[in-house]
Amino acid sequence: MPKGKLKRGLKLLSRRSTHGSLSPKIAIQLNLCFSNIPSSFTTINVDGHFSFTNNEFAAKDYGNQYQFLPLAVLHPKSVSDIAMTVRHVWELGPSSELTVAARGHGHSIQGQAQAHRGIVINMESLKTPKMHFQIGDFPYVDVSGGELWINILHESLKYGLTPKSWTDYLHLTVGGTLSNAGISGQAFRHGPQISNVHQLEVVTGKGEVVTCSEQQNADLFSGVLGGLGQYGIITRARISLEPAAQMVKWIRVVYSDFSRFTRDQEHLISSKNTFDYIEGLVLVNRTNLLNNWRSSFNPKYDDQASQFKSEGRTLFCLELAKYFNPNNIVETNEEIESMLSKLNYIPSTVFMTEVTYVEFLDRVHTAEIKLQEKGLWDVPHPWLNLLVPRSKIHKFADEVFGNILVDTSNGPVLVYPVNKSKWNNMTSAVLPEDDIFYLVAFLSQANPLSTGKDGLEHILSLNKRILYFCEEAQLGVKQYLPHYATQDEWRAHFGHRWETFQRRKLAYDPLAILAPGQRIFQKGGEVVTCSEQQNADLFSGVLGGLGQYGIITRARISLEPAAQMVKWIRVVYSDFSTFTRDQEHLISSKNTFDYIEGLVLVNRTNLLNNWRSSFNPKYDDQASQFKSEGRTLFCLELAKYFNPNNIVETNEEIESMLSKLNYIPSTVFMTEVTYVEFLDRVHTAEIKLQEKGLWDVPHPWLNLLVPRSKIHKFADEVFGNILVDTSNGPVLVYPVNKSKWNNMTSAVLPEEDIFYLVAFLSQANPLSTGKDGLEHILSLNKRILYFCEEAQLGVKQYLPHYATQDEWRAHFGHRWETFQRRKLAYDPLAILAPGQRIFQKGVLDL
Ligand code: FAD
Repeated sequence: MPKGKLKRGLKLLSRRSTHGSLSPKIAIQLNLCFSNIPSSFTTINVDGHFSFTNNEFAAKDYGNQYQFLPLAVLHPKSVSDIAMTVRHVWELGPSSELTVAARGHGHSIQGQAQAHRGIVINMESLKTPKMHFQIGDFPYVDVSGGELWINILHESLKYGLTPKSWTDYLHLTVGGTLSNAGISGQAFRHGPQISNVHQLEVVTGKGEVVTCSEQQNADLFSGVLGGLGQYGIITRARISLEPAAQMVKWIRVVYSDFSRFTRDQEHLISSKNTFDYIEGLVLVNRTNLLNNWRSSFNPKYDDQASQFKSEGRTLFCLELAKYFNPNNIVETNEEIESMLSKLNYIPSTVFMTEVTYVEFLDRVHTAEIKLQEKGLWDVPHPWLNLLVPRSKIHKFADEVFGNILVDTSNGPVLVYPVNKSKWNNMTSAVLPEDDIFYLVAFLSQANPLSTGKDGLEHILSLNKRILYFCEEAQLGVKQYLPHYATQDEWRAHFGHRWETFQRRKLAYDPLAILAPGQRIFQKGGEVVTCSEQQNADLFSGVLGGLGQYGIITRARISLEPAAQMVKWIRVVYSDFSTFTRDQEHLISSKNTFDYIEGLVLVNRTNLLNNWRSSFNPKYDDQASQFKSEGRTLFCLELAKYFNPNNIVETNEEIESMLSKLNYIPSTVFMTEVTYVEFLDRVHTAEIKLQEKGLWDVPHPWLNLLVPRSKIHKFADEVFGNILVDTSNGPVLVYPVNKSKWNNMTSAVLPEEDIFYLVAFLSQANPLSTGKDGLEHILSLNKRILYFCEEAQLGVKQYLPHYATQDEWRAHFGHRWETFQRRKLAYDPLAILAPGQRIFQKGVLDL
């Protein structure tokens, strides 16, 4: 459908649909066009237009390996077209899967500018603002984010001006290169392109139009530069300029020794009087040196140089340029001679030419035209770009040029150093640690018909080998124009900067709408399988994670052979020390019960009144006589699993184990139930309580984990003072071994090797304002917590509940950082488990 007609159709729909009189013909057309694009898009009244067909171009890039077709392409004519479109997707909320990719010139390698079933914004059609030049002492130009650098060059030269820092190829957009860095032979002096920008205008992932610079919205400014399109769409950039030269001396000299080559490169990038452009090439396995030289370099030979043959050796070519104006050619030649005289290349290999400034900067385009004529431009380009720390470049070169790439040459390999001091370390660009690092660019092209050494598979496998080597040898290499498959790899790529990268994402594109092709953040929920081996961080986080990181949809539970029956035993103590000593003895013994708990019996007139659960002992005479007489007593609850065929041994074992305990002798209460009856014992009690209408009452429970060394101090005060005259429900007390807990999970435990669970399982009488009323029980809980805090017992709440984030922070202690980091990684919008009141949606405060 012609675009104009479609747009008219869209407007028709938005106008007429409210009147319900849309003609059937147009409705059918629109249904086709809008399959899966929310019809609400028809309400966006853009100055440019959307296209819904013939969008194949937006599913392609220079890499020629990834093809994701968008649902629509916006061809914007104004910034507000972009803002309205993004805002609309933002307003559709997290349940919509729509994403938005700004597409510059589509010269990415792995689909970074594509949006699978999303919206691509064709930035090149954004022609506003018209280029605006500021001349004077600090010249600059304001350009559209979709402008090509080649156009900026031509326009700037009309004012005798030029941008300072370039890429090797200028048919790229401002937004595209600023989203990465923009590195070329000028970067050693001026820094990359992202170091030469004064101001940006950005449409964020919420559809807001924000102007930013180092002075204004500085965090967004830094984030967007090198930010892989994650925080906003660059709609305007203010680029720093300098006076332009007219001509360029372009020089290549050759080395057979890598150390000399890099020594000279490092010397040149550190010297004050030096060339204007310094790069380098590796020439792998070339029979004739001048075959296949990249770009349009066409030197005027001197006799000696024309004789030079590489003879299959790996050589290193230093590429230099000196800008000049014709009126100072003599001084320029002298300067060049002086600078070359300090270098240690093979003397017979000075290749030199003289070209215009534009010819030099646009050199790769000249090569492009030739390749296009031969049908060799639109082939797969499995490029790999690495930033290698200076201290590791020799180790890198030994293996990569000495071993991995020896017998193959599928395109230029660039190697040149840059000074890190010229980079602003606030941007999102990720760099190696050293002060000088090398860009090493494997700019391969693949023969699409080949399965051999020049085929895509083979080149990709070489890239993998190089990356594998870098990782194994721990070279501290970083990918430039990075590409990864998993978020764990992205996290490793960013290293300690991941937190900042992620925080900014949350601030500027919280729904992960922008630049989905980078595959860093995913819009919508992910289903993840995790274990100790796979996505281990999520696995540990979710366990004890209070629902903060994900919804558990499946769990693999460990099993053991089951017994059929259970001996269920209670014995009573009047002395807390004897009680806990026996408990600790039992949980540390090898031959012991299968279940060990304990109860505090506060102020009971008759011991068996209100005993928790379905325990229904068979009395022996003595036991039935026992009266608590209002004392606080401590009941040890034990169970031994058994099968009927070994009842005799079981009884013997129990007898032996009980004989080592120091309970009140007349208080052995015992019963025998099935395994299910035992495990489901509280449900049996529930049924009884429900029948009496006592289940659905308020339950002001308080669960504490008390370190072993503090349990007596705790008991003295809590059972001796606070809870003396009241009993509103069972109070459990029993020790556990910390060694049985995985300390990687999110569960928060006291410091010691043994700690007690103390559970006040109160129920309140909803009608009472007295001692069994909710208010009173809550006030007792508060008193207990207050005491624990004042006495610094190191108690932790289990099933914790707090009112403020400060309290949560105190609860987690040194584990808070991890807890928060995981939240940011797995639920950055704080959507999940809001009832815990730990994080608040929209204000994840980091
Ligand atoms: P695209 O491929 O269209 O987009 C790249 C990424 O940026 C995508 O994620 C996209 O969504 C995002 N993006 C695009 N526009 C915007 C915007 N306005 N706002 C926010 N995000 C946006 N790089 C160098 O540093 N130095 C070089 O010397 C160099 N030489 C190259 C030579 C060739 C032949 C090629 C093909 C690439 C070269 N590159 C070089 C890499 C190039 O800088 C990046 O691939 C760059 O992203 C391409 O720009 P583009 O306009 O085609 O961007």
